[in-house]
Amino acid sequence: MDIDDHAEELASTLGVDKAEVKSDLENLISYSVPIDEAKQSIRRKHGGGGDGASATPTAKDVADISTEDGNVTVTVRVLTVGQRSIRYQGEEQTIREGELADATGKISYTAWEDFGFEPGDSLTIGNAGVREWEGEPELNLGQSSTVAVETTPVETAYEVGGDTDLMDLRAGDRGRNVEVRVLESEERVISGRDGDTTIRSGVVADESARLPFTDWGARPELREGEAFRFEDVYVREFRGVPQVNLSEFSTVTPLSRDVEVNEDAPRMRVGEAVGSGGMFDVEVVGNLLEVRDGSGLIERCPDCGRVLQNGQCRTHGDVDGDDDMRVKAILDDGSGTVTAVLDRDLTEELYGGTMADAMDAAREAMDKEVVADEIRKRVVGREFRVRGNLSVDDYGANLEATEFEETDDDPAARATALLSEVTA
Ligand SMILES: [Zn+2]
Repeated sequence: MDIDDHAEELASTLGVDKAEVKSDLENLISYSVPIDEAKQSIRRKHGGGGDGASATPTAKDVADISTEDGNVTVTVRVLTVGQRSIRYQGEEQTIREGELADATGKISYTAWEDFGFEPGDSLTIGNAGVREWEGEPELNLGQSSTVAVETTPVETAYEVGGDTDLMDLRAGDRGRNVEVRVLESEERVISGRDGDTTIRSGVVADESARLPFTDWGARPELREGEAFRFEDVYVREFRGVPQVNLSEFSTVTPLSRDVEVNEDAPRMRVGEAVGSGGMFDVEVVGNLLEVRDGSGLIERCPDCGRVLQNGQCRTHGDVDGDDDMRVKAILDDGSGTVTAVLDRDLTEELYGGTMADAMDAAREAMDKEVVADEIRKRVVGREFRVRGNLSVDDYGANLEATEFEETDDDPAARATALLSEVTA
């Protein structure tokens, strides 16, 4: 719906002149008021008529708020407050966002104005708009919302403040604090809407996990090996894994303590890892069921790196491909399946020869498939430990392997160990 449609709808439900409604609507939107709130205040101006359900906000427990609600009143504890600058209706605007909670649950919010509240504050928020965000209800606090401080603290089981282990960060988290060591860090220039921008990106780690990060402020002090406390970071998904983002509002303080970094990736069941929606560095163990087509000797498009199908790139058509090797292998541990994707180095190891050896074998047999078949013979039915970056999308779960090796314990020994565990 565009503004005209909204004005039309409002004018007919309120029984007033459309031109007047439209001009009010345009005016409110020019002040960056979200459309739902703009409509709400116009309804109020004309006596609050119209769709009754959303016109009178009702007091609700957090757990009872649904995306069907129009506006609600809640009494809550502020868990986190993050700041971010966004572009809304063509304007740069600072918003606050985070989580609120009461005894029944917690909920995300976005505040379009600075109401001045901080983590730990207990508040009654009147006339908060409810919108759907990533499938969940979220509260929108704008011009027409009221915020009153409660003197009695609101009881909640959730922890106040945004301190979080990297392992527990999820896409959509905001106003979080982490204590990390920088493992990799590099300044990069990217071209965006406002021309070239310098950013810093790399990998951070704590005791629980490691994650990629991007510092949109390109702080030079984020050097490899140094440990910091980051406050007010937000999390976005990038290629299926959560990424720590530092904005201009994030603060970075050097830590006097060292952050112990676990050299091992967390070991998870396949089902659990896939269920998390993607992980940057994870380890699974599973039986190799199948080496998929498109494994062994392959050709890539020299322009975009895509694997060619019958000499054709999906984007660039008929091209002179670059030779490469890879393996796409399906692993299963009983809880789920994942496709492990191995690069050339790992594939050469599995094959037991270099790419030059593989080319020779293919030439001799006059068939590239002999390479994939040789790999199949070596791996199918065996158990492997895979470490890598897991991404999950509509096409399935892919584990981009950084380590891939056969588990050294043989099945019989494993069964015995399991048995002794059970009987012990
Ligand atoms: Zn291409």
